[in-house]
Amino acid sequence: MKLKKFTYLLLAGLLCFGAELQAQSVKKAEEKVKLPDIPGYQTLKCDFHMHTVFSDGHVWPSFRLYEANRDGLDAISITEHIDYEGYPDEIKKDYNKSHQIATESAAKTDVLVIQGVEISPRVTPYHHNALFVKDANKLPADYMKDGKKKFVMKDNPTEKQLLAPFRDAKKQGAFIFYNHPNYRWWDKDKYGLDLFSDLHRKMLEEGLLHGVEVVNSGIYNLEAHRMAEKYNLTMFANSDEHRDISYTYRHSHRPMTLVFAAERSEDGIREALQARRTAVYFDNYLVGREQEMDAFFKASLDIKAVKSTQRNVEPVILIHIQNNADIPYDVVCQSDYDFENLPLGRITLKPHETTTLTLKTLWQELQEVPLRFEVQNVLVSPEKALQTELRLRVTE
Ligand SMILES: [Zn+2]
Ligand SMILES: [Zn+2]
Repeated sequence: MKLKKFTYLLLAGLLCFGAELQAQSVKKAEEKVKLPDIPGYQTLKCDFHMHTVFSDGHVWPSFRLYEANRDGLDAISITEHIDYEGYPDEIKKDYNKSHQIATESAAKTDVLVIQGVEISPRVTPYHHNALFVKDANKLPADYMKDGKKKFVMKDNPTEKQLLAPFRDAKKQGAFIFYNHPNYRWWDKDKYGLDLFSDLHRKMLEEGLLHGVEVVNSGIYNLEAHRMAEKYNLTMFANSDEHRDISYTYRHSHRPMTLVFAAERSEDGIREALQARRTAVYFDNYLVGREQEMDAFFKASLDIKAVKSTQRNVEPVILIHIQNNADIPYDVVCQSDYDFENLPLGRITLKPHETTTLTLKTLWQELQEVPLRFEVQNVLVSPEKALQTELRLRVTE
């Protein structure tokens, strides 16, 4: 009797567990952007840089929520310039208003809204975003000449004036990253050729700098990627959208910062950003750190090695590779054996398709097959593609 009861309980437990798994996979299947989670973490799709009419953008904050919801994002931040007012009479000097409107709009969606601002002096250290600020009205922009309306800076702003908003943001618990490092506006006579200036080094030491945009407006920046690696910064890919995002990315998807978070919440995002667990997703490229990129690539695939009986005289193994992610992977695939009709092993694993490779010239019965991949559109370092290995058990 007892055993029977136990069996029922076990069965009920298994059914619940099964139902939960099924619910999870249904939720995953319904997601608009299909990217895998990695072991221990959810993959959150985020954009931490955009503007509205509350600075130099052209849309209302609720429209950013409409876009984010439509595009399947988990979190956004509307980061108005603290030193530029598009419509000062309407703003009435309340720099929290944009975030408040966005938060109200977010209540009708699943999108998380993180409060953020863009600190944007037109001299070094140039533009940075501060996320998780609590009161944007308290951030000083004393390096401006005549208030914030005209976007004109003082002739010789002091270092103290330039760093003041960063120091205040830090007091509010902000996470700060360097936006779009760029040669276009760089004063090379004064600061040399390194886009990471002495002032940035000072900010790093003072805890005023934690990340960098490796992609801004959908454009990859090799210097920023090098910077992220050299100074151990969290990597971001943001849209910095000022207009209608669907038109800007009509040929692709909007750029995203993928955040590998222990939980889907503001705290979860903050912890992941501090731990540098992010990746940059733009066009068909991913840029990240080796550990997360290796896990992400493997989590994207279901791979099976099956002994084939189709050819009686020649033993072959079929390798079925199903890619469950939206990203086509350009790989060089190698084993210790010959992939039929695939010299050099170059192939694209198309999204949501199964690619079958035939492995031959097998002189012995194999229990396991080694597979080595170079994934040419996943970067783990500037100019370095992900290399990874798998051992597949061969089934009948
Ligand atoms: Zn900017
Ligand atoms: Zn911006």
